[in-house]
Amino acid sequence: MIEVENLHRHFGGFRAVDGASLKIATGSITGLVGPNGAGKSTLFNVIAGALPPTSGRVIMDGEDISGLPPHVLFHKGLLRTFQIAHEFSSMSCRENLMMVPGSQSGETLWNAWFGRGRIAEEEASLLKKADEVLDFLTISHLKDEKAGNLSGGQKKLLELGRTMMVDAKVVFLDEVGAGVNRTLLNTIGDAIKRLNEERGYTFCMIEHDMEFIGRLCDPVIVMAEGKVLAKGTIQEIKANEQVIEAYLGT
Ligand code: ADP
Ligand code: MG
Repeated sequence: MIEVENLHRHFGGFRAVDGASLKIATGSITGLVGPNGAGKSTLFNVIAGALPPTSGRVIMDGEDISGLPPHVLFHKGLLRTFQIAHEFSSMSCRENLMMVPGSQSGETLWNAWFGRGRIAEEEASLLKKADEVLDFLTISHLKDEKAGNLSGGQKKLLELGRTMMVDAKVVFLDEVGAGVNRTLLNTIGDAIKRLNEERGYTFCMIEHDMEFIGRLCDPVIVMAEGKVLAKGTIQEIKANEQVIEAYLGT
């Protein structure tokens, strides 16, 4: 689904991503691990359009998507989760889901003049969808809760929920499990697995928790110093000498 070819992203003279090449297969839950500063988040930012590459290419389903802005990628079904912005924290969980761009056809001039009925219809279907998403994520009881009042883990679930309001194909998750308690981590893990199995989502996820990675991800890609160091099952990665060295070296 995604091919990254010899990607570079430099900051001044510093090579945060230094010739990374990798593939994310359709239908996989691919893990991305590596020591702090390896360039994982920068790589995600380039793939998801938040940062232009210095050089190299990102291909999605055969199409060169290098440097396309996030909203264009969004419409192609390539999403990354974002933290709930401060200005949305006083809105309810349900409202947060309904606010996702692209989940409605928008207020065209035609709609504004003639389509009142259609807009009401759309809003009703949006509401229904938001409630289905909350149900899927087992947080229906929080639908009227303000997003700002959620725990860290519940916020992560809501972030994941926002990807379900549109037709996502591939979702990039940057440390969704960080600082989340075990129970919620399992809920998040189950949601990811179900989205993968039942809705055909492809995932690529950066994570530090090796148990969480091992339970969900195959394959696992290891990055160090801006490059891809290894790729394999979690067992292969854990037994790889170069990988062990890279972790010990930091
Ligand atoms: P990881 O997510 O693997 O921990 P990052 O991609 O966040 O690593 O960072 C890789 C390196 O790039 C780090 O040394 C970081 O300080 C540097 N870096 C990241 N973003 C910027 C930036 N906007 N300007 C300068 N340096 C950056
Ligand atoms: Mg990071």
